[in-house]
Amino acid sequence: MNCDIAIIGAGIAGMTAAIYAARAGKSVVMIEKEAVGGQITLSPRVENYPGFKEISGLDLADNVFNQALSLGVNLDVDEVRSIEKTDEGFKLTGSYTEHTAKAVVIATGLKHRRLEAAAAFEGEGVSYCAVCDGMFYRGKTVAVVGGGNTAVSDALYLADICEKVYLIHRRSGYRAEKAVLDRLLANEKIIRLENKVIDSMENADGGKLLHLKDTQGGADTDVAVAGLFVALGHIPQNDAFKDLVDLDEFGFVRAGEELLTKTPGIFVAGDCREKTVRQLTTAASDGASAGLAAAKYIDNL
Ligand SMILES: Cc1cc2nc3c(=O)[nH]c(=O)nc-3n(C[C@H](O)[C@H](O)[C@H](O)COP(=O)(O)OP(=O)(O)OC[C@H]3O[C@@H](n4cnc5c(N)ncnc54)[C@H](O)[C@@H]3O)c2cc1C
Repeated sequence: MNCDIAIIGAGIAGMTAAIYAARAGKSVVMIEKEAVGGQITLSPRVENYPGFKEISGLDLADNVFNQALSLGVNLDVDEVRSIEKTDEGFKLTGSYTEHTAKAVVIATGLKHRRLEAAAAFEGEGVSYCAVCDGMFYRGKTVAVVGGGNTAVSDALYLADICEKVYLIHRRSGYRAEKAVLDRLLANEKIIRLENKVIDSMENADGGKLLHLKDTQGGADTDVAVAGLFVALGHIPQNDAFKDLVDLDEFGFVRAGEELLTKTPGIFVAGDCREKTVRQLTTAASDGASAGLAAAKYIDNL
């Protein structure tokens, strides 16, 4: 398919970029490898997207998708495996399709590293986002599993909302910035359970019972919590594009204010780029900026 702007990924960032680009008079295709809507379709309840006191992730994604379709945006289901620069612009090659476009927006989001022992409870007491779901556990006891910057920051964030926070880490050292670590060590609401892994979990007394194994051969323990936050890291999905865009040490795409990458004509939006806050509002904001910047780029060709 030949169009003005090809958008890789139909999450909130990609769909918002499509809406802005289409409203700027450009022909747009979104190429999505899995489900339209991206990560948020996994959330039964969103309470922090302006304009909706409460909405399910699926309904929100559906609304945005229908808005994009009503503007003439096209959707193709495929995984984009490469972007090539050509005389006319760019060629995007997928597993089954090929697209040519004058400009590209990469909006590939990320995947959360999952905890197998908690997989059956995702969305029902197991969350991957403290900022999104922390409020649901106000005044309760929760656990965070992980030992990196995100896990420590999540524990600190939740300590301000919850009664008590267990931080479960398979080692005793944390891969976190010193300032964050100092705050962790000083916070009396956070109980560090070090050298422990979650072996399994079950429903108990309206909450969850976590069965922990000691990695140093010590005794197994059980911990009762209202909810578990998994913070084992993010997996960006940008490797296929690394010849045309700069990636940071974690694999996120680097870009400036206009969301332009190092290649003129390739823009980036949403969770897949290097940034500090990964939320729906920031994904939508990126989408708006990238969609408009891509349209402007074409106007100036
Ligand atoms: C369970 C859960 C609950 C959440 N709750 C909230 C909340 O309450 N409030 C909030 O603000 N945020 C919440 N978030 C975070 C929010 O969902 C994300 O910040 C936001 O959805 C990011 O949007 P995105 O478009 O950048 O990426 P994504 O939603 O990750 O979308 C990227 C899309 O790109 C596709 N893709 C990737 N690579 C390719 C490729 N090569 N070719 C084609 N397609 C590709 C993926 O399949 C995906 O559909 C939650 C996240 C999760 C997981």
